[in-house]
Formats: sequence, C-alpha cells, structure tokens
Amino acid sequence: IVHWNSPRFHSYLPAGNCFPAICADMLSGVFCNIGFSWSACPASTDLEMVMLDWLGKMLQLPQDFLFSSNGTGGGVIQSSASESTLMALLSAREKTISCIQTMKKDWSRGMITDKLVYYASTEAHCSVEKAGLLSGLTCRLLPTDAAFSLQGDILQAAIDEDRTLGFIPFFVVGTLGTTNSCAFDNVDKLGEVCKKENLWFHIDAAYAGAAFICPEFRYLLNGVEYADSFLLCPAKWLLTNHDCCAMWIKDRENALKPFSITPAYLKEDVEEQTLNYRNWGITFGRKFRSLKMWFVFRMFGVRGLQTYIRKHVSLAHEFENLVKNDHRFEVLLPVVLGVVCFRLKGSEAQNEEMLSVINKRGKITLKSSRIRSRDLYVIRFVVCGKDTESEDILFSWREICLAANKILNSKNEDDRR
Ligand SMILES: *Cc1c(COP(=O)(O)O)cnc(C)c1O
Repeated sequence: IVHWNSPRFHSYLPAGNCFPAICADMLSGVFCNIGFSWSACPASTDLEMVMLDWLGKMLQLPQDFLFSSNGTGGGVIQSSASESTLMALLSAREKTISCIQTMKKDWSRGMITDKLVYYASTEAHCSVEKAGLLSGLTCRLLPTDAAFSLQGDILQAAIDEDRTLGFIPFFVVGTLGTTNSCAFDNVDKLGEVCKKENLWFHIDAAYAGAAFICPEFRYLLNGVEYADSFLLCPAKWLLTNHDCCAMWIKDRENALKPFSITPAYLKEDVEEQTLNYRNWGITFGRKFRSLKMWFVFRMFGVRGLQTYIRKHVSLAHEFENLVKNDHRFEVLLPVVLGVVCFRLKGSEAQNEEMLSVINKRGKITLKSSRIRSRDLYVIRFVVCGKDTESEDILFSWREICLAANKILNSKNEDDRR
C-alpha cells in the first residue's frame, strides 16, 4: 500500500488521521446507526449540529452560518467536497429557476436550464467541473492573475458578456487554497460581484480551511460573509480520518426545500422536532461521523489543533527556504500554508525526469501538476504526515538534490559530448 501518513509522503494533500479519530470511527461502526432522520438516532443529528457550530466558532464564521444564531443557517457533514459543491450547485439552480419563473411565467425548466452558466477559476478543483457534468449545467472557467487568483473584474466581465449573449449566470465558486498551488481567490471582491448580480456564492476551502482556526490565518477567510455556502474538509487537514467534509449553508430552509421528501415509512418519526440530515445531501443513510470530530476536538482542543497547523506551515517554510537557497531551483508562489510549488530552472523534460528518479528510489513521494492558466509544469511538495519533523524535511530535500545532481550531471556530460 501507499503510506499516506508517512512523514516523507509529500503528494496530493494530507489525509487526516489520529488515534481519537480512529476510535470514533470504530465506535461508529459498532453502533451502526444510520441517521437519515432525527428519530433514527437523535444523538447522531444533535452531535452533528453541535460539532458544526463548534467548528464554525473556531473559524469565526459569521453568525448566520451557525445553528446557535437561531437563524436560517447551519452546517452538515458531507462525505466529500465534491458532494458539497454539487449540492450547492443544485440548490442554486433550483433557487434561480423558481425566481425566473415568477417573472417569466411561460419559460419552462428546460429553457431556463439551457441558459444557466456558472463560474470558477481554471485553478478550481476538478470537482467543480464535475458537478456540472453530473447536473448537465454549463461551467465556465475563468483565467487567474499572476498569483493564480481569480479577481472580481474578470468575473464581472464574464457575467456581462454572458448576459449579453442571453445566458443566465447563477453560481460562482471561489477557492481558498487551490489544490495545485494553494492559491487564494479574491473572495472579498468575488463576493461583492455575486451580491450585486444576485448569484449564489460558494467557497471551497477543502484543504486550507483548517488553517483559519489560527487567528494569524483568519484574514484569508475575509469575504466569507458574502458566501451562501462554505466548505472545508476536516478529513484533509484537521486530523479527522476520511470521510468528513464540513459544509455550511446560510439559508438552509430554502436551499433544502427542493430536495426534501418524507417517505411513508418515516411518517412516525418526529419530523418537526429538528432537522433531517437526509435532505442535505445525496444519500439517504449516513454514518455517525460527528463522533470523529467530537473525539478529535476534545482530545486536541483548539490550541492543540492550532499547534498542529502551525507546525505544518513552519515545516513548509523550512522546505521553501531550502529550495530558495539553491540557485538551481525556483519556488513559484509565496508559501502561505503547507504546499510548496517548485521546479528545477530548466526544461519540463528535466523536471519530469528528476521527479521520476525521486519516486523510483521510493524513499519519498512527490507529484507534479500543471498550472492551467500559465501552462506551467510544477512539482508540488506538501507537508502531509501528522508526525513530520524537520529532519524529514531535510531528508526529503536531500533526496531531491540527489536526483537533481543526477539529471544535471548527465546533462553536462551530454553538453560536453
Ligand atoms: C481535495 C479537494 C476537493 C475534493 O475533495 P473530495 O472531498 O475528495 O471531493 C475539492 N476542492 C479542493 C480545493 C480540494 O483540495
């Protein structure tokens, strides 16, 4: 198997894991209750509501997202960011269709659906495009600036252009911490545009969101007050094992109404008492996943979680400095959290060859990616392992240097020949 929790695993993104999360997962397996309605297991629903409020408070989310505000907002644990984004997209579609049909009485669903268009940046996760493929809705990917960030004026121009062509813009995904390079869209400006144009604004912070529990990184979340929905995955960078994606919706009443059905065999369940999480997602049955969050939060405490995040960020900076101090390499983007995008100053082929040497040695794992807006090949170094230490970073850097020496020496020999 591939050891995702090895301190020398630097591919993809972290897969959260820790002893209390594993215990909670086992207990969830033991209890085996399937919380589709509140009555099916009240503790499952109640704990989930409390955990989403706890995490929301750690993130200083606006009150409207929390159950405790007694407003229309609240959170849910979805199985994945992909599912959360799809649900947000579908909610936005229903909201838009019903809004348009109040004005254009003779327009059918089909006519409206054909005109709908939504936006994200070229750096957004592929799940954003996939949500369009699953739902048959049109996605338009917009170019980013030099820091791989989507800006408000680009979004505004696309909306204006599409409206002129007769399309109906309805949904925007802003990414905080892109999967490729951990870049941040300008959600403050995107949010302003969405508000002005009356579009659903969804923020995907699957990986980076965990860092916002630290006050020094909370500024990255500024603009979340414009969002209609927001997600982060504790299963990525908050020590909770897969699967666990936290999603908040500001107006849950209206967002979920189109998907709410109560079959006859649930009639006796006390529907009115509280909410029924089956209406929030695709599946009917769901695991008791909030136990994992509860155990992790209680075991580490907010301070323990902050310490974990800070350690990963500081290790990423250690790696960044090693790369920057070697003239043969370049770092492509200032490092903000735990992802370092770098490359050999050389051809794409050389970089590919170096990566292949590194991975074939089998001591560390690294992956490449491509920044779509610049058609640029990059190597991603991610601090993943829960127990990664400085010496692992140094070890990994030596592995990279070994491969670089090999590639560059063989090039020099070729040149001499
Ligand atoms: C990992 C990731 C996703 C996909 O997560 P799943 O939970 O596997 O669907 C979506 N968006 C971003 C930004 C990610 O990093």
